[in-house]
Amino acid sequence: MKVSVSTKRPILSPCGLKDIEYQVDTYIGCEHYCYYCYALPHAETDWSKEILIHKDIVDQLDQELDKIAPQTIYLGYQTDPYQPCEKDYCQTRKVLELLFKRGFSASILTKSDLVVRDIDILKEMNDAAVSVSVAFKNNKTRKLFEANTIETEKRITALQQLKDAGVRTGTLLCPIIPYITETLQLIDMLEPYADVIWIYGLGFNDRSAENWLNVEKILDCHFSTLLEKIEPILFSKEHRYWAELGQSLETLRTERKLNLNIHI
Ligand code: SF4
Repeated sequence: MKVSVSTKRPILSPCGLKDIEYQVDTYIGCEHYCYYCYALPHAETDWSKEILIHKDIVDQLDQELDKIAPQTIYLGYQTDPYQPCEKDYCQTRKVLELLFKRGFSASILTKSDLVVRDIDILKEMNDAAVSVSVAFKNNKTRKLFEANTIETEKRITALQQLKDAGVRTGTLLCPIIPYITETLQLIDMLEPYADVIWIYGLGFNDRSAENWLNVEKILDCHFSTLLEKIEPILFSKEHRYWAELGQSLETLRTERKLNLNIHI
């Protein structure tokens, strides 16, 4: 993987999530290279070969933080802050150290267990939160859709370690791929370690976008009998499949008093 230095650009940027105003992408691009990734159509490099890092991320961010009051900053919006090169480059750790020093906190989303390396900082921050994203119980299926992520079991162990350390935990059960993602089984596996489970379905609106073309190819090669059934569901949030799944998840939430945040 080639790691190049990006052109200078703002590091702190607006965050579209409710209750969080700003986010930081510690990398530009993502080695995990999930074929369905919603950020793929806007990628600046071919993520299978090259990603970018910010030059002087700490000094620049330090100056940008002068303009805002201490608050929670989101890490993991367009890229995974714990993708494999974080082991060597430590961009995310450096950002966390700075945020902590300046009285800020962090809300993190990752698919990696490398996040446990930074438990020492996270547990000292004021109300830091880590969510681990999961979409497949079956590891063979995971490898088809997510080229470079780690096994689901390892992600769950990371969640457990974070929870044991007193860090607020969550899971993003995402993206649910109809007839493929083992949604209910994953909820059973995740629920003991996640304070909240956010659930989102896979969806597309552009048949020429790279992420849909990737997914179509995988379905065609490995789930050819399901392709015809799955395709219309992925292109319509109004499809009966989503309504029925939503209803069963609502029932599960009520009956088992689970903290499910359902967005399908
Ligand atoms: S880990 Fe997230 S940002 Fe990275 S490729 Fe996968 S979906 Fe995209």
